[in-house]
Amino acid sequence: MTQSAESEFDFELRVCAWAERNWPPSGAHDPDTTALVARQLGTKHRRWDTVIVEADTGALAARARFGPKRLDSDLLGVVRNAPAAWTWYRDALPEPDYPWRYVREAVHRAADRGIVETRQRRNRIELRRKWVYPDWVERVIAIENKPDLTASAARALAGQIEHDIALGLADEVWVATAATDSPIEPVLLEDFPVEAGVLVLGGSSTGDDEPSSSDGASVAWHPRTLAVGERGTRILDRPTGGDHDRSAARFEYASPEWKGEKRLAIAERAYERGWRSYVDTMRPDCRHFELRRDAHERGRDVLPWCAAKERRQTAAECAGSCSSFEPEPPNWRSAAWPIEGGPGSAVKRLLARRRDRRRPDAPE
Ligand code: SF4
Repeated sequence: MTQSAESEFDFELRVCAWAERNWPPSGAHDPDTTALVARQLGTKHRRWDTVIVEADTGALAARARFGPKRLDSDLLGVVRNAPAAWTWYRDALPEPDYPWRYVREAVHRAADRGIVETRQRRNRIELRRKWVYPDWVERVIAIENKPDLTASAARALAGQIEHDIALGLADEVWVATAATDSPIEPVLLEDFPVEAGVLVLGGSSTGDDEPSSSDGASVAWHPRTLAVGERGTRILDRPTGGDHDRSAARFEYASPEWKGEKRLAIAERAYERGWRSYVDTMRPDCRHFELRRDAHERGRDVLPWCAAKERRQTAAECAGSCSSFEPEPPNWRSAAWPIEGGPGSAVKRLLARRRDRRRPDAPE
């Protein structure tokens, strides 16, 4: 595991924790907007390190009626089109460009999850809605994390950021980097698309309980708002620009409808997972797994820590294949086990509770 991979994972979690507490960076917090933060979300072609979904707080509470799990595109198609009165599902839902039986399966899944009502009449399945699916997503923000934003890292990132800007799937695209002793030199940003914002987070994480004196973040460059409601351009290939490269750029268009669906799918996944879902792929059941207060943000959040390695471990190395992995001893689990599990299960519950605090309760 390279030092850079270690620090990138650590940095990514710190960006998420910071964003959850402080977004937007202007400090102009609007109580009617809730920021949901998630990691590693995007499309088949592009995955962003950090995603922030700015949600209408009231509509987000209405979204909670549909349960904590994400609604995939099939379920969204059902709940968004379910009528107020009993209707045969083929009359109620838009004609799909695939067989109706898949729609019928989605209707049954929606009914099993209790988010629509169904009944059988004259051999036909009818449905009606329980609630209107709310329009809860206001803006989607994409952040690429690059703790060490050297000139060559900025150049390497510039191509990806240009893709994001041409597509316009997120309302804003940012690069988050770690503060250094020197200011960000304009030369670093020379090749950088001017539409992307640059956020600088203070200090480096040590895992100590003492808060850092350089908490917080500052904006080194403000982003431009992208045209998410307009047709976007997906760059498939572009010439390298070398003397021998005579190839043409290849691209395709992305319709506003496609973008709208993708944005909602990303928001639904962010709603389900939050950013603490790293614990699902790590080994909190290892005796060396700990949660320690972050040295930043006045230690208000907890991040994973490996007592064996005496540092923050990455999600990739914290696996059953880790040479230092040791299962938590059975007697750690003795009190309430197997109903509640050992400390590893307690860690998962703690992180799930922290995620749930961000999701308002459904109205009565
Ligand atoms: S020893 Fe390995 S498996 Fe255990 S917490 Fe550390 S990194 Fe994870």
